[in-house]
Amino acid sequence: MEILHVTAECYPYAKAGGLGDVAGALPKYQTELGHVAKVVMPMHRTKFLLDNVWDTVHKGFFNMGNFYFDYTIIKEATNKLGFDLYCVDIFGLFNREKVYGYDDDTERYTAFNIAVTDWVSKWNHRPGVVHVHDHHAGLVPFMMQNCFAYRHLAAVPVVLTIHNAQYQGQFGWDKQQYIPAYDTWQWGKLDWNNTINPLASAIKCAMKVTTVSPSYMDELKNTAAGLEALFEYEKGKCTGILNGIDNDVWNPETDTYILDNFSIKDADKGKALNKKKLCDDFGLDIKKPLFAFIGRLVGEKAAELLPQAIYDSVYHINGRMNFLILGSGDPNVEHQLENMRSSLVGFYNSTIGYNEKLSHQMYAGADFLLMPSRVEPCGLNQMYALRYGTMPIVRSTGGLKDTVIDIGDSGGYGIRFNQATVGDITFSIYRAVELYEDKKRMTQLRKRMIGIDNGWEVSAGRYIELYRSIS
Ligand code: ADP
Repeated sequence: MEILHVTAECYPYAKAGGLGDVAGALPKYQTELGHVAKVVMPMHRTKFLLDNVWDTVHKGFFNMGNFYFDYTIIKEATNKLGFDLYCVDIFGLFNREKVYGYDDDTERYTAFNIAVTDWVSKWNHRPGVVHVHDHHAGLVPFMMQNCFAYRHLAAVPVVLTIHNAQYQGQFGWDKQQYIPAYDTWQWGKLDWNNTINPLASAIKCAMKVTTVSPSYMDELKNTAAGLEALFEYEKGKCTGILNGIDNDVWNPETDTYILDNFSIKDADKGKALNKKKLCDDFGLDIKKPLFAFIGRLVGEKAAELLPQAIYDSVYHINGRMNFLILGSGDPNVEHQLENMRSSLVGFYNSTIGYNEKLSHQMYAGADFLLMPSRVEPCGLNQMYALRYGTMPIVRSTGGLKDTVIDIGDSGGYGIRFNQATVGDITFSIYRAVELYEDKKRMTQLRKRMIGIDNGWEVSAGRYIELYRSIS
C-alpha cells in the first residue's frame, strides 16, 4: 500500500515535540512491513536541509485569495531516513528556521495544505491512503473532497491522527478566500464555533480519526478544548492507537549521544557512569537520586508547578535528592527555573532551551523522570526513560495511564499520582527517594523497565489494518 503522511515535523529533519518523533519513525516501520510510506512536510531551514542533497521533483503554483504563490517539491536524494521524504517550499512562506511561532502561521500552513493537495492532484496515480497529522495538515481532507480543482481525489481514503487537540489552527471567516473554490454549501465542514477550524474540519472529513493513545481518546469526549461535542458525534470513526518509540534511535546500547553505552545486563554500572557525567557537568551529588524533567515548559505539562515542588522537596525531604531540568516555553517559568539555580546550589540545575543531545544524556543518567502533565495525548518521554532504565513518575492521564504501572501494583515499574498539584508531586518524589535507598529493588526494577518493548512494530501494523478497513 502507498501511504502519504502529511506533517509539519519529522525527526531528524525538524522536531518541536512528539509529532516529529512519530512522523520520523512510523513511516520507517511501515516501510519495513513492506509498504511504500512517504512523508511530505514544509521546507524548514534546519541543519538536515543544509547537510543533505535534494532533487527537485515538481514545480507548481496556486492562488490563495489575492496572493499568488509558486511552490517547489524537493525530495531527499539518498533515502537516508528509510522512506521518501518530500519538502514543500513556498516562496516567502517557508525556508525559515522555526517550525511554528510566526505571525503568518495561518497563511503558511493554509498554503502548505493547498500546495500538497495540488501536488498530489498532479500525480499520474492516486495514493493508497493520505494520512494527515494534526491541524497543520487539517485542511487537506476538505480540499481533496470539496474543492473543484481537486475533486478527482475525493475517493482517496484519508486518515487523521491527532497528536494534540489543544492546538486547532482556527482562523476567522474573513480569510475564507484562502480556501480554493469549493461547493459553498459544504462550508459547515470547515466551521467550528464560527471560525474556520482545520482540526475540526479534518475530524469531520477524514474517514478514520485516531489519537495517539486509547485513554486520550476517552478523555477527549470530556475535555477537548471546545471540540467535545464533535468527538461525541464522530465517535464511530475514532479510535486510539498507542504511539511506539523508535528503538533504533533510542537505544542505550548504541546511542552515540551518551557517554557510556549499556544494556540490560550492565545497566547499574552504565547508568552510574552516565549519571556521574551529568552530576559533574551540573554540580550535583552523584550519591543522591537524580530527578529529571525534559519538555515544553507549558501548562499542559504542569511545568509551573515544578519550582515549588522542587523547593518543597529539598526543604521537607531534607535535600535527599538532586534535580535537573531541560526545557523551554513560558517565559515566567523559564525565569523562575533560571533564578532558582543560585538558591539551590548542589541540589538543582537547569538548561533552558532545546538540546537533543542533552535529553539523551538525561534519559540515560537520571534515576527518575518527572511528568506531572495535565494533558498527555501519549507522551514519549516516559517510554524513552523506561528504555534507559529511568523510572517515570507520572500523573495518571492520557497515554501515561496506558504505559506506566505503579510499583504498588502487580508488575509495576513506575510511580503514578492523580492530581497535578505540588502536594502530589512532592509525595511521589518522597516515594521515589525511599525506593532509591533499596538498591536491590532498584536493580530489579531497572531490569524490568529496560525489558519492556514499546517499539513501533505492533502499532505500525495497527495503522495498516485501519487503512485496509477504508480502502
Ligand atoms: P509533546 O509533543 O507534547 O511536547 P511528547 O512526550 O510527545 O511531548 O514528545 C516530546 C519530545 O520532545 C521527546 O522526544 C522529548 O525528549 C523532546 N523534547 C521536549 N523538550 C525538549 C528539550 N527542551 N530538549 C530536547 N528534547 C526535548
